Amino acid sequence: MKEKSIDKLQKVMRSHLCNRCGSCVGLSEGKIVFKNKTGIYLPKAIAPIDDEMAETLWHACPGAKFNFPAYREQFYPESPHFHDFIGSYFRIGIGHAMQPDIRRAGASGGIISAILIWLLQKNLIDGAVVLGMSKTEPWLTQAFIATTEAEIMEAAQSKYIISSNNDILPEIAAFKGILAYVGLPGQIQSIRKLQAIDHPSVKNIRYIFGPFYGNTLHFSSINSFLKTHGEKDYRNITKLYFRHGEWPGNMRVELKSGRIIELKKFHANYLIPFHILRNSLYCTDLTNEFTDISGGDAWAPVYEERGKGFSMVISRSKKGEEILQQMLGEGWLKFDQISEQEAITMHSHGYDFKKRGGFIRIRFRHMLGKSTPDYGYTLKGFTLLRYLMEVFISTLFILLSTRLARWSVEQFSPTFIGGIFEKTRTIWKNSTHKIKRKNL
Ligand SMILES: Cc1cc2nc3c(=O)[nH]c(=O)nc-3n(C[C@H](O)[C@H](O)[C@H](O)COP(=O)(O)OP(=O)(O)OC[C@H]3O[C@@H](n4cnc5c(N)ncnc54)[C@H](O)[C@@H]3O)c2cc1C
Repeated sequence: MKEKSIDKLQKVMRSHLCNRCGSCVGLSEGKIVFKNKTGIYLPKAIAPIDDEMAETLWHACPGAKFNFPAYREQFYPESPHFHDFIGSYFRIGIGHAMQPDIRRAGASGGIISAILIWLLQKNLIDGAVVLGMSKTEPWLTQAFIATTEAEIMEAAQSKYIISSNNDILPEIAAFKGILAYVGLPGQIQSIRKLQAIDHPSVKNIRYIFGPFYGNTLHFSSINSFLKTHGEKDYRNITKLYFRHGEWPGNMRVELKSGRIIELKKFHANYLIPFHILRNSLYCTDLTNEFTDISGGDAWAPVYEERGKGFSMVISRSKKGEEILQQMLGEGWLKFDQISEQEAITMHSHGYDFKKRGGFIRIRFRHMLGKSTPDYGYTLKGFTLLRYLMEVFISTLFILLSTRLARWSVEQFSPTFIGGIFEKTRTIWKNSTHKIKRKNL
């Protein structure tokens, strides 16, 4: 007997295949809600869902199925280049926003915010779906529609805890005007799936942008960070930043008491193995392949030493390339084109993690008899050494996410642990350099 849509959806909602994009919540007319946002943060049905709605929600869900080749064909027919790791594209470059305040406000080069502000100034959009921090619960993320430059600037910077931008789909549908949408790969995959069936909820979205995506963390990362500083209650947070100050920035927590806690971004990365959202490990899209333009950090010593903020920028669709050209012509952006190989070399660890590690981890999941995502393609043919490396990484992720491991790390100062983490990571990167770079 054919499995019902609601049953298939419920399985994703309860598993590591759910990326928390929020579409099922947004489209369910209040029948599905996110439970426990400071905990497991999973969608839960709180009222019966009829077959017609279940059908739509299942279609919108990217957790179990998103056919990369088919959607690429549909949305990028004019893109002249394609690479399995990068997706479809026109041009890749390194750059930043020319306006110093936008560059400073951004996570890396302020490119995404600059594009949104330019579109707004040109009256090409009336608003942009962006991610800020909640006004009432400033420790949680909250998507909203920015209609002014100030609001776009306010939402700049990366947030490394779970975001569920598509839970505001009803607002997006009701908005009077044209929208740009910014989101993570899973969120965008859902928007593309809805666009493919002309769903009314996304009719206002004309442009799609987004950051590269390595991983995201559970809220437990914030709790843990606070505990190590002797702070017990996250409800005392008044402001939470993940990339505050000069690039690459600091994790920064401001508390009601006036206390400010800061830690270098590279040191705050120690939280990743302890609190990573498991779905990040099965997401194989590093560079946000279904955007019009996507942007990541330009990780290379030559840029990192200069500070200030540099992005890698990829124009993917004809629309995206036209925006890039016009903004360059008007002096809005600095952009030095680089080759595909240079781009892959710059993010070799990210590509290895997502495009090799991701597919290997999916294979491991399958071998354990668990449900796996169907991306319509798979990459294989990796060396035995690479598989062994993945056994080690995956075991580490499982061990470090236990309560005991989290408690143990909380006994040390984050500056100390962060320093050790950064050094260990460098040693690990150097020692696995050959395995990772092989055939990239
Ligand atoms: C969770 C996460 C993981 C990342 N991992 C990597 C990585 O591994 N490698 C890499 O090179 N770059 C990564 N990035 C991208 C990088 O941090 C910058 O976001 C990117 O370089 C764009 O910088 P910008 O200055 O142009 O963007 P900004 O001008 O700062 O604009 C960023 C836009 O993204 C939106 N946004 C921020 N966080 C989220 C979120 N969690 N969900 C949805 N929308 C959001 C904001 O609302 C804003 O509109 C990651 C970003 C995020 C959010």
